Amino acid sequence: MDYVDLRSDTVTKPTPEMREAMAEAEVGDDVYMDDPTVNKLQIRAADLLGKEDSLFVPSGTMGNLLALLVHCQRGDEVIVGDKSHIYMNEAGGMSALGGIYPHPIRNQPDGSLSLEEIRASIQTEDVHHTITRLICIENTQNVCGGLPLSVEYTRQVGRIAKDNGLYFHIDGARIFNAAAALSVPAKDLAAPADSIMFCLSKGLAAPVGSMLVGNQKFIARARHLRKMLGGGMRQAGVLAAAGMISLERMTRRLGEDHARARKLSEGLKQVTGLVLDPGSASTNMVYFNLKDEVRLSVDQIVDEMRKRGILVDWAGPRRFRLVTHFWVDDAGVEKTVRAFSEILK
Ligand SMILES: *Cc1c(COP(=O)(O)O)cnc(C)c1O
Repeated sequence: MDYVDLRSDTVTKPTPEMREAMAEAEVGDDVYMDDPTVNKLQIRAADLLGKEDSLFVPSGTMGNLLALLVHCQRGDEVIVGDKSHIYMNEAGGMSALGGIYPHPIRNQPDGSLSLEEIRASIQTEDVHHTITRLICIENTQNVCGGLPLSVEYTRQVGRIAKDNGLYFHIDGARIFNAAAALSVPAKDLAAPADSIMFCLSKGLAAPVGSMLVGNQKFIARARHLRKMLGGGMRQAGVLAAAGMISLERMTRRLGEDHARARKLSEGLKQVTGLVLDPGSASTNMVYFNLKDEVRLSVDQIVDEMRKRGILVDWAGPRRFRLVTHFWVDDAGVEKTVRAFSEILK
């Protein structure tokens, strides 16, 4: 059965065009920096984000970890959102592997970190304190609803970082979704930051990989640490070939996923028992809660959906997140709305 898979945009399989490009990719040993396809991808990614250089990494988690390890020394402190992927979903890598100390502050309902709270969180010089070294934001902010953070907001965070001699990293796993939603070039969203990571393997539909982007010195150090972590890949051009199509083609079509998310959100609003988040479908994510009157558990709903050929994941004891992507079409959206209506009626 061909499932409508709304669990995440990470489930995207490579497109036929990607598979063809992968089969024909020119390759070399990328640890020797000899893989022409990887080199091309790295130049193109740096160019799109308006930075000097970039590095192809196996995952977004490794990309973020490398940024943390390059910017921070052991014992340094990082200001992060309490609902950020770096804080919640990267297995504590910064602490376990880098001896880096997270300073979580609340993500606001709009996904941002309050500028006042960032300022107030910067440690003063005192032998008792850790040394604040880095600010991280996430764009789009996944857990808050896939919400895009504006160019203006990002500039303000960049200003705080500069004024206080701090580095600034963006977890931009879905930065091209933010760019599409805001109708701005991704490089405008990256400009205030020292480094940015984005995923090829999510809405951009590549099978594997993320890009870490920054200046030459930063990337040179990140390349060294990538090898240390075991992330030096050999004929990675096979993967980079798909990544090139992500950059050239898939970045341009994300608006379609956002339109389908809106359509899904509109449809689900009509279903009794569901309460959509106010920011639902700001990009490719639809978040909603079950009303108290709904007797079914989220697990029962997941099972009922699966029986109807639809894969969904719950995001909390009474909460769902549905994600649109390249492999979800209009028929899939309609089928999903119908299934929820049936199950909850
Ligand atoms: C998916 C994701 C990552 C990590 O990417 P992986 O490739 O799964 O390691 C980082 N940040 C955010 C916001 C993500 O959604």
